[in-house]
Amino acid sequence: MIPSEIIKQKRNGNEISHAQIKDFINGYLSEDIPDYQMSALLMAIFFNGMTESEISALVDVMLNSGERMDFTHNSNYVADKHSTGGVGDKVSIILGPLLAAAGIAIPMLSGRSLGHTGGTLDKLETIPGFKVDINLDEFRKQVDSIGIAMIGQTKEICPADRRMYALRDVTGTIESVPLISGSIMSKKIAEGICGLVLDIKTGNGAFMKNIDDAHKLGNSLIRIGKSFNINTDVVYTSMDQPLGKTAGLWCEIQESIDGLKGKGPDDTMQVTFELGAKLILQAGLSKTQSEALALQKELISNGKAYEKFLEMVEYQGGNSQDIKNYNKLHLPKFSNSLKAEESGYIQSMDTYKIGIATVELGCGRKKTTDAVDSTAGIEFYKKIGDKINKGDTLLKFFNSDSNKLDPTKILLKDSIQVGKEKVEHKLILS
Ligand code: URA
Repeated sequence: MIPSEIIKQKRNGNEISHAQIKDFINGYLSEDIPDYQMSALLMAIFFNGMTESEISALVDVMLNSGERMDFTHNSNYVADKHSTGGVGDKVSIILGPLLAAAGIAIPMLSGRSLGHTGGTLDKLETIPGFKVDINLDEFRKQVDSIGIAMIGQTKEICPADRRMYALRDVTGTIESVPLISGSIMSKKIAEGICGLVLDIKTGNGAFMKNIDDAHKLGNSLIRIGKSFNINTDVVYTSMDQPLGKTAGLWCEIQESIDGLKGKGPDDTMQVTFELGAKLILQAGLSKTQSEALALQKELISNGKAYEKFLEMVEYQGGNSQDIKNYNKLHLPKFSNSLKAEESGYIQSMDTYKIGIATVELGCGRKKTTDAVDSTAGIEFYKKIGDKINKGDTLLKFFNSDSNKLDPTKILLKDSIQVGKEKVEHKLILS
């Protein structure tokens, strides 16, 4: 195999075979193929797309780059949720424990920040001591005993996605239906689940900017799920503004804790419950959507979802006392804010720019080796449709590296548009 020949074949818009995809990815994992050649292939796929059979081969090779879990011994319904990526999207951190408290087994493999979008793993790692790289035996035992574990791709499970994901993050090769399909579905199939719900984020802060592209991605993910006998539901939700009150690292853990304690923002909880209902119905734990919603609200109000989260934190090396004292941890050293320059109503938010501002602040990486800043994030005081007066604080941004505040402010400056009309924002799309 000559790697540059495969790159050229894809660059020229021709199909590459299962064997070529396998040789290339395995060569990358064994270090025979360097990052620059993998980056070139990813860019060729980004521009030319992939046929259905190429996508199936990509999923197969990425999946078989590591182990595949088996939970057939577990008597509970084994399922998971995944988002295609958003700004302020902390739903997995609330929904995972909530569904585990409902009796669904959740072996969740998540990712780090990707492009302008936040990463569940980076957020979870801000919990002092919390380990996202436990070995597969520990992972299996934890899911069997408490019903949930949340980890990342490791050398044992989905190593191909682990490396390719990190490379895509910094090479402008994220927004591609085949690459997103390979990345998400290889992780989800490797978990050994029988049910899956996917949150297909759509809008100016999502990788899919409009509903037609979102449907293309949704259909691709459903097709792959079906071919592996996984019950796959999709929900399309808006990413035309950040989800919830915050986007960042520890601040999103704080907001998730609030959500688990029944004090979460309406939009975050609406998306959480909508997705949760799909898996509760799949599992047969409720018969109707309204029963599934009521069950979730009950598990929040009786404290069981929050208790499950604390149990997971303790199991994975964290300390529940830190969670209980969450307002005392990771205090940012610096902050600044954006004020309204005119009165009116918020018309729109440039969620992509806001996401890029979180990367600039320290929540994401500009190169693979960058460290992230747990204290960094943005708090939103106003969202689309809200009335504002000149001088009102629209958002506050914070971190522990003052050099990053001015570039962040420049990015955020024109990210919120104000006009005279009150506009509505639709959260759940179809
Ligand atoms: N989530 C993933 O796991 N992979 C992607 O490529 C995008 C979102």
